[in-house]
Amino acid sequence: MKIQTPTRAPRRPSTAPELLFGDLWDYDPAPETADPKLKARYDLFIGGEFVPPAGGKYFESVNPATEAKLAELALGGPDDVDRACRAAAAAFPAWSALPGRERGKYLYRIARLLQDRAREFAVAETLDNGKPIRETRDFDVPTCAAHFFYHAGWADKLEYVAPGRRMEPLGVVGQVIPWNFPLLMLSWKIAPALCLGNCVVIKPASNTSITALKLAEIFQDAGLPPGVVNVVSGPGSTGGALMAHPAVAKIAFTGSTEVGKVIMRSVAGSDKKMTMELGGKAANIVFDDAPLDQAVEGIVNGIFFNQGQVCCAGSRLLVHEPVARTVVSKLKARLRVLRVGDPMDKNTDVGAIVSRAQLDTIRGYLKAGVDEGAEMWQPPCRLPKKGFFMPPTIFTGVTQSHRIAREEIFGPVLSILTFRTVDEAIEKANNTEYGLSAGVWTDKGSRILRMSTELKAGVVWANTYNKFDPASPFGGYKESGFGREGGRHGLLDYGRLVEEGRP
Ligand code: NAD
Repeated sequence: MKIQTPTRAPRRPSTAPELLFGDLWDYDPAPETADPKLKARYDLFIGGEFVPPAGGKYFESVNPATEAKLAELALGGPDDVDRACRAAAAAFPAWSALPGRERGKYLYRIARLLQDRAREFAVAETLDNGKPIRETRDFDVPTCAAHFFYHAGWADKLEYVAPGRRMEPLGVVGQVIPWNFPLLMLSWKIAPALCLGNCVVIKPASNTSITALKLAEIFQDAGLPPGVVNVVSGPGSTGGALMAHPAVAKIAFTGSTEVGKVIMRSVAGSDKKMTMELGGKAANIVFDDAPLDQAVEGIVNGIFFNQGQVCCAGSRLLVHEPVARTVVSKLKARLRVLRVGDPMDKNTDVGAIVSRAQLDTIRGYLKAGVDEGAEMWQPPCRLPKKGFFMPPTIFTGVTQSHRIAREEIFGPVLSILTFRTVDEAIEKANNTEYGLSAGVWTDKGSRILRMSTELKAGVVWANTYNKFDPASPFGGYKESGFGREGGRHGLLDYGRLVEEGRP
């Protein structure tokens, strides 16, 4: 169990990035103007080159904020997966034989080149995903670079990953990632794999593949040897072909629990090593002794950051009964001033939902919440006419049996429950099939320690929420998956431990 607690008393929103106060309508729009340098068409990146897909087919990627076509992406199929896995296998002997510090130089170079083009990547990510430019600029892109920097630093110190034993790379790693943090998830996967000497074939999510293919341009510019990283865009079936490919020694999957189970079933009996980063339904727990204004900022950040499309989102608010009314009223006041709209506007707090399908899923949960008897509240919001937008939504009068309290909605929807005692808070927080993250807001250090011990969650944030650091392992309990990403623990999942003196 990992406790993350700020070293100093946090000031106002302990968020990453901060959400701003402001009036809904009374401001000048400030669109970001950096050129995202998008191509009209993106091919697959295999063996160090951009190549057309074997089947010759392409699909469209749209901007979820405008529904306009952004680019065409190659539809990779099993033949392309095979080509990519062969390229990775061919690159493996030379790449894994390089001294760690030489591999580290490539990782440093990738991080620096990404920093040089940070604005361009931030705009591309916002156009492709719909998340506010402030988030891509201040969080997604810098944190992606930070993961490459962090693992570059490990590359010449691998003897400290497991002292007394040696880490050996596994070979070809097959990686599949979701759409909610396209660049960030990619760096969580690629950086540790390369650090240890593995080669990679990665499949980004079909509706957010552009920045993965832009990053392939950086791999070329960094002089990364051909085949060390290969990017194959395509639908879920392409991911299935990758997971099942015989050359793949390790599977690293981030996505829904449902698809994670399908993958686990499909490779059962094989000797593939596996890590699964799956869904979540985190409890964000506010006690009556918490600094309430600060807690409200943490609640807002916990569920409205990235439109709530976050695996560790604090989607269940558990609030201590004596302060429940106050917290809900402060929260409503805060939501009235959140700015929902154009993700390219630097003042926007809540951008677009990634796709029409996801918007429909979220709407389905709003209906389920109302049908099951919870009370829905949304602030007055003027949503753009085009694009996939959803106002921030809270539900009160929620019980543990409601679907909105049990299932991962993956949208800007908060279910509010109350509790009377610490034991009740723990029991309600743990009453879920998931176990990815949790938040605790209280003035008492002893209570933080107890909660972090008893909450079945991979990460427990105390008096803060959504804090990420490459040095800090991230991962789940129960149906939120297994294995860790980040930190020393994340590296352990990308290698084989060999006793010193043994082959
Ligand atoms: P998803 O499971 O639908 O898709 C994830 C990826 O898997 C996509 O690239 C998709 O094309 C691919 N895929 C689909 N079917 C496949 C199959 N049969 N075989 C192989 N690959 C297949 O998830 P999503 O909707 O893209 O993302 C949202 C989900 O991801 C949420 O459940 C969220 O909690 C989870 N997530 C978890 C973490 C974490 O670290 N635990 C981080 C981010 C997102």
